[in-house]
Amino acid sequence: MLPHPIKKFADLFATLPSLGPRQATRLAFYLASRGKAEIAEFARALAALDQLQICKECFAHYENTPKLQKNTETTRLCEICSDPHREHNIIALVERETDRFSIEKSKKFRGRYLVIGEIARDGTLNTEQKLRLAHFKRLITERFGKAKEIILALNSTTLADLEADILLSELKTVTERITRLGRGMPTGGEIEFADEDTLGGALENRK
Ligand SMILES: [Zn+2]
Repeated sequence: MLPHPIKKFADLFATLPSLGPRQATRLAFYLASRGKAEIAEFARALAALDQLQICKECFAHYENTPKLQKNTETTRLCEICSDPHREHNIIALVERETDRFSIEKSKKFRGRYLVIGEIARDGTLNTEQKLRLAHFKRLITERFGKAKEIILALNSTTLADLEADILLSELKTVTERITRLGRGMPTGGEIEFADEDTLGGALENRK
């Protein structure tokens, strides 16, 4: 019989991506063996995730620093969406927040983002994604009439092709141009794992 705290932890962590029940149980015992101080540190790190806010324009998580709080008290915008020096009518559409960070690291993009979330294999959008897209289209229309460019910064997989078709038809009414990352991304390559130069090159060669 598993001790109750171990079972509770394992049941919860087994619901996370890439952790099965057995691994989650092993992890619980492992953490328990690390001692009180470390357990408390893990607990604090976990609790701190709760402090993150979601940007109401790009749907990325951000940390509400005092500076940002002052700027965006009533609007709840991330550091990119609230930055007046970014080109707000050039938008990179990414699946994952980690893709956004990879693109930022390449320092080759001065526009902003929309985080759409990972799309199902059959290419359909879920309710949340439909809402994000509708919200985003409304925002663009209200602010610019049309965006200058929307870059589909998608992972280069078959999935991404499917996705691009759906997104193309959804987006073409709100932008002058739709581009995709150019050559240079390895086939089947994921944005998250591309090095900064490769990603920078793919951004510069978008078409
Ligand atoms: Zn934002």
